[in-house]
Amino acid sequence: MRPERSRRQQLLAQVAAELPASPDLVLVTDLDGTLLAGEDPWRRRFYGWLRLHRQRVLHLFCTGRDLASVARLLEEEQELGLGSPHLVISDVGCTVACGETLLPLPLVVDPIEARWQGLPERLMPLLARIPGVSPQPESAQRRLAYRIDPEALDHAQLLAIEAHGVDCLVSGNRYLDVLPAGVNKGSTLLALLSWLDLDHGTVVTAGDSLNDLAMFETGLKGVMVGNAEPALIEALPSLPTIYLSCAHGCEGIVEGLSHFGFGYLLEGAF
Ligand SMILES: [Mg+2]
Repeated sequence: MRPERSRRQQLLAQVAAELPASPDLVLVTDLDGTLLAGEDPWRRRFYGWLRLHRQRVLHLFCTGRDLASVARLLEEEQELGLGSPHLVISDVGCTVACGETLLPLPLVVDPIEARWQGLPERLMPLLARIPGVSPQPESAQRRLAYRIDPEALDHAQLLAIEAHGVDCLVSGNRYLDVLPAGVNKGSTLLALLSWLDLDHGTVVTAGDSLNDLAMFETGLKGVMVGNAEPALIEALPSLPTIYLSCAHGCEGIVEGLSHFGFGYLLEGAF
């Protein structure tokens, strides 16, 4: 047996019980500003639809939050009916976990971890000296998370940090994520789709901020929700597979799914 095949089977064994065998749709949603945005009645209806179609729609969270924050969120949003996804990509692409257990999947995470070794120790003292950059109190895995003061930050200093083998990702004009070079929501999503042997034609992504740009640059179909940050909307002309919804949050996702021909799955629910 080829080693690649054996590794894929190992990965499937870690999550197989959780996954639909042959999904009609693989829906990859950012959380804040996307799956968590929109009017409450729309959110309630959309979360109910996801639960009802759990065997036809393979749902992935793809978020900048860490796993602890995702766990808290699932508790908080129970009231509106948000259930666990099948899989979670967290930490802006630096962690992948089973959606039910929130246990990381070592086959995907270990290579990212290997690329991260030694970087935090080297970079934290350098970042601490940059004006306008302050650590976020939330924990982060295989990345460093900061808040920025856009007035005080000189972006040239981030280029100097990137020379150490990392990518500096600013989103929402407030957040800075320092990631292993080449690791982002898009790269990790593509790796995961490949591990799971999922048809790219069935995939739709959805997001609202610059940390979703890499996901929108994969060539997969994507929905930019109507409340997306202006800097992301500016990138739209260079993103031929992305649809910009008029509606916000969950309603925007539904609009995008109809646009991409998945309306048959939505019939009667919206
Ligand atoms: Mg977002």
